[in-house]
Amino acid sequence: MGLRITAGLFALSYHRSDYVQLAKRAFEAWDALAEDAGEALVLKTGGLDLCGPESAIGLDDYRRAMTETGVEFEEVDAVEIRRRWPQWRIADEVEGIYQERAGIAMATRANAAHRRLAQTNGATLLEKAAVTEIREVGGEVEVVAGDRAFRAEKLIIAAGAWTNQALSHLGLEFPLDVSLEQVVYFDSTKLDAFAPDRFPVWIWMDVPCFYGFPVFGKPAVKVSWDRCEVFTDPDHRPFEPDPATTRAIADFTGRHLPDALGPVRLAKTCLYTLTPDRDFIIDRVPGTESVFVAVGAGHAFKFASLIGKALSDLAIEGHSDLDLSPFRADRAILTEPNPVRSYMV
Ligand SMILES: Cc1cc2nc3c(=O)[nH]c(=O)nc-3n(C[C@H](O)[C@H](O)[C@H](O)COP(=O)(O)OP(=O)(O)OC[C@H]3O[C@@H](n4cnc5c(N)ncnc54)[C@H](O)[C@@H]3O)c2cc1C
Repeated sequence: MGLRITAGLFALSYHRSDYVQLAKRAFEAWDALAEDAGEALVLKTGGLDLCGPESAIGLDDYRRAMTETGVEFEEVDAVEIRRRWPQWRIADEVEGIYQERAGIAMATRANAAHRRLAQTNGATLLEKAAVTEIREVGGEVEVVAGDRAFRAEKLIIAAGAWTNQALSHLGLEFPLDVSLEQVVYFDSTKLDAFAPDRFPVWIWMDVPCFYGFPVFGKPAVKVSWDRCEVFTDPDHRPFEPDPATTRAIADFTGRHLPDALGPVRLAKTCLYTLTPDRDFIIDRVPGTESVFVAVGAGHAFKFASLIGKALSDLAIEGHSDLDLSPFRADRAILTEPNPVRSYMV
């Protein structure tokens, strides 16, 4: 099964206002969970999106979406970026947008809090119990897991890269691509410069698109590539990091964050479950009465608590107070035999 992310980049800046609205709600959801859990789950560091003049992505959509939704952000040019974050080596033409309300969703801690509170509220969590059968029977759902059969009124599937394997029991599949992603931790000799109070989470908005974090968890600087171009089968995926990918991430880091560079402390692979439009799926499974599904399209950890709530509301109440229309499971692109893929968000 997949290696877990340990830190989720969490920012309000998104390319569409519906996502910005969702991110605002996600902050509230994490705050509510943190209160219930009695511990902080989001480390606020600020967030910097930056790009060069020839960027394939640019910042205009992000500016527009945050302006439309009333999210405050700052325009920062290259001079200002260098003044405030001297760790950056960038050309004069580079521009950026900075927001205070951004940071790290502390994944390991947040997952533990979710599990703990679920158990406190009566959930039974079965470890190492693979689901091998799913069927709707007489208005209920029967699930076979770990060789035991369970009956339930409703079923929620959040199987990540294995979503289509789970849906195949119901004779369904989505046009999903599972991509192999990689993160690298560098043993920088200048770790202090990348401390969370001195260095924000960041995204280099271009193709290739890189992103990174201040020092968190491990005593190293983490840089990743939002690649979405190497596809794999989740059951036969390589765990060994790809040296060429590590080199590409190191090259970027060496050019733009030279003080972060150092020996590779750790490189690890992970899986995205990509929809063709890179929008989530949060909905009832088409053609079923009682089965619901979520697919995170490689950018959902920041929304984990909110999506969990939306799915349980859909399953129990039949509706959610969130506008989930962009995430419908029956949207046109998900029903096309070979849809055009566009993964850059
Ligand atoms: C390198 C990388 C970096 C990322 N960075 C960020 C980020 O900075 N910010 C952000 O918001 N998101 C980020 N993401 C995306 C985020 O991790 C995912 O969107 C999110 O984890 C998806 O959650 P999930 O619960 O849908 O799937 P998963 O986390 O994959 O969980 C699916 C679970 O289902 C289990 N499962 C599957 N099949 C079965 C079965 N038959 N029986 C029993 N169990 C089964 C699997 O073992 C797994 O535990 C990143 C992802 C990667 C790979």
